[in-house]
Amino acid sequence: MKSKLILTLFTVLALFSAGTAQDMNNVKYPEMQKISSRRKIVIPDIPGFVTLKCDFHMHTVFSDGIVWPTYRVDEAWTEGLDAIAITDHIEKQPSKEYISGDHNASYEIAYPQAIEKGIILIKAGEVTRTMPPGHLNALFLEDVNRLDVEDVTAALTEARKQGAFIIWNHPGWQAQQPDTCLWMPMHQSLFEQGLINGIEVFNEVEFYPVVLDWCINRKLTVISNSDIHDIISDAYYLETQPRPLTLVFAKEKSSNSIKEAMFEGRTLALFNNHVAGREDLLKELLTASLTIKLLGNAKDKNEKRYEIINNSAIEFKVENQKGDLLIIPGESTIISALNPKYYENSRIINLLTGSNSCLTTNLLYK
Ligand SMILES: [Zn+2]
Ligand SMILES: [Zn+2]
Repeated sequence: MKSKLILTLFTVLALFSAGTAQDMNNVKYPEMQKISSRRKIVIPDIPGFVTLKCDFHMHTVFSDGIVWPTYRVDEAWTEGLDAIAITDHIEKQPSKEYISGDHNASYEIAYPQAIEKGIILIKAGEVTRTMPPGHLNALFLEDVNRLDVEDVTAALTEARKQGAFIIWNHPGWQAQQPDTCLWMPMHQSLFEQGLINGIEVFNEVEFYPVVLDWCINRKLTVISNSDIHDIISDAYYLETQPRPLTLVFAKEKSSNSIKEAMFEGRTLALFNNHVAGREDLLKELLTASLTIKLLGNAKDKNEKRYEIINNSAIEFKVENQKGDLLIIPGESTIISALNPKYYENSRIINLLTGSNSCLTTNLLYK
């Protein structure tokens, strides 16, 4: 009995020491494996709508991009986006010799990954022509192949027949409009036929202020897209700012709701801490972002102490009627002594309502 017990003890000890000994064939360092995790882009919902962070313009190896379609989904997930459209060029496929010319392929390859990661993937293509009309993205397509026709108006008419939302891309791209950013007679004609529904105000790292005026005056939807061809984290400083994003105010998080919101013009264009678009939406976003509390009197009897909580990643730059600048950093709380009289008509200088105008509001509303 005793010897049996000793033997069991020896067996346990032997097993224990074998478990802790270093394996001489294969040593793993799991702590060196980067864990893939999703970032959060903090932008609040507005009353009645969810705020979706979207990029409707990007390329893969199926046109002149350098990545496989599933990688666009992974990038979007990591960065904290809700929806993307892969928009490979219909008329420009430099790798066609090696990679299928089917224009639906990038969507079909990326789709299962999008389902797995909860990213809304929109079937799309980029109609790629010389100026005019230049490049246009058709979103929410059924069959991209049917847009591969010679006449550009026929291609866009086919897109509309499929229910597409059509965006005029990078109108101020200097390769196509070297001197000025022009709305040409052909754009007017397409617009009148309902073949331009929105325009990129931001593309890649560019801003076209004049285009913001076009959108406001013609009630066109403002769009901000990356047009990424390379790897997104190599192209932007994502640790501090997201890629260009279209904020879509949708009734719910779904492809159909995004489409409805885009046709209704319920978007804002965000890039480099500037938000551009309709005044009413900018005001809703500012109101949803800030919680302002009156704390009491300040030393100066004309001033009061306020606590301002910014529930958004966007840093608001407020210019009061005296021209003083108040910075409200993203996702932060500040306490400031302010004279409310000077903030009745505050200019929020990074919330843009036109090429030369910004949102004006009574910041302290008391
Ligand atoms: Zn383009
Ligand atoms: Zn493009």
